[in-house]
Amino acid sequence: MSKPTHTPTVPTPGAPPPGAPKVGIVSLGCPKALVDSERILTKLRSEGYEVSPSYDDADVVLVNTCGFLDSAKQESLDAIGEAMRENGRVIVTGCMGVEEGRIREMYPNVLAVTGPHQYEQVVSAVHDHLPPVHNPYTDLVPPEGLRLTPRHYAYLKISEGCNHRCSFCIIPSLRGDLASRPAGNVLREAERLVNAGVRELMVISQDTSAYGLDLRHAESEFKGRKVRAHMTDLARELGGLGAWVRLHYVYPYPHVDEVIPLMAEGLVLPYLDIPFQHASPNVLKAMKRPANQEKVLDRIRGWREVCPDLTIRSTFIVGFPGETEQDFQFLLDWLSEAKIDRLGCFKYEAVDGAPANAIEGAVPEEVKEERWNRLMAHQQAISEERMQAKVGRTIDVIIDEVDEEGAIGRSAADAPEIDGSVFLNGDTSVAVGDIVQVTVEHAEEYDLWGTRVDA
Ligand code: SF4
Repeated sequence: MSKPTHTPTVPTPGAPPPGAPKVGIVSLGCPKALVDSERILTKLRSEGYEVSPSYDDADVVLVNTCGFLDSAKQESLDAIGEAMRENGRVIVTGCMGVEEGRIREMYPNVLAVTGPHQYEQVVSAVHDHLPPVHNPYTDLVPPEGLRLTPRHYAYLKISEGCNHRCSFCIIPSLRGDLASRPAGNVLREAERLVNAGVRELMVISQDTSAYGLDLRHAESEFKGRKVRAHMTDLARELGGLGAWVRLHYVYPYPHVDEVIPLMAEGLVLPYLDIPFQHASPNVLKAMKRPANQEKVLDRIRGWREVCPDLTIRSTFIVGFPGETEQDFQFLLDWLSEAKIDRLGCFKYEAVDGAPANAIEGAVPEEVKEERWNRLMAHQQAISEERMQAKVGRTIDVIIDEVDEEGAIGRSAADAPEIDGSVFLNGDTSVAVGDIVQVTVEHAEEYDLWGTRVDA
């Protein structure tokens, strides 16, 4: 800074690209805070930002504060004041960030306040107020990142880990407890993907409905407004980006009710992927999953009243240790009521390290096989009935493939790879990623056939 009272010497290896956005930093406090500042700068520098040594030259100034003692807090507030006077575009981070109210009372115009060790949040705040400039000659990675999916759809991971402890699963021991990404961060990634041509975003996590619990649903910035880290708020914001939004791995918590109106409005696809795993209270209890399936049935009925087009996809496990014929029959009866649209079924397999291995009453392989066959046959009748109801309707279809014989796409009811397809025989005048209107002429158990309305 021009008056470098608190400024550390910052090495700036390599020449930044011409016109690179410039970030200044004032780093206060202990060596841990200094390391945090270095980490933030390293990340920003790797994204093409230039580190500015003066207030005058900086496009934005970061103040990494200390809040250990009252005197340190005062020094932090003074440093924020100096940066506001000298530059005016200030982002506050570090230990004092936990006292956002006090900072904003004195300096209402600071651009953002983040707390200690919130690297992702502070970098996000810089992106919000001073977007990075993509340099196609030097950046090895395009702004939307490298992807293994086709250009027109992408998976959007909103969290890692899981707070549940289902007895058949070892994911929490491998990946730890739920760790959600700030909403602003997820939304910026989604926006980059949409700008790069993605027409469908698939939201994934271990438990999408738990999103943000670990962050206490803290708000973060996206396009100058605050967005809560909460499934409903995130779904609404994603819906505003103009791409299809599909929600995977949702647990049937009561607050899932809140996203159904967004589906009815057309902001989010009317599709919920809920891995129920079973319906019998005994088996669910042994699986350590919520066991009130009567309430879930009521909830499903309520969802369909609000959004009649809702597709529910689910997975189930048959042959879980201790599953009796009565439990299995309960599951079949439950499926008849729930009318799940898309269903995957697995025969229980012991996973090394899973607590379920210790549960007595292993189900013989031939019984698992027999139950699997019965369940699939039972579901086939339900699926067929639901698919036949689509004949004669006009639906939106996203195109996945086009060749000389025609096009293949998917409806809102079909996630890629796991659900069905919509065949447009002989239609070669569409392109991959187009979303077109199709009148359904024929339906089978999983797939539909139809003709484009404007063909
Ligand atoms: S099965 Fe899913 S919800 Fe259950 S512990 Fe594993 S990741 Fe979590």
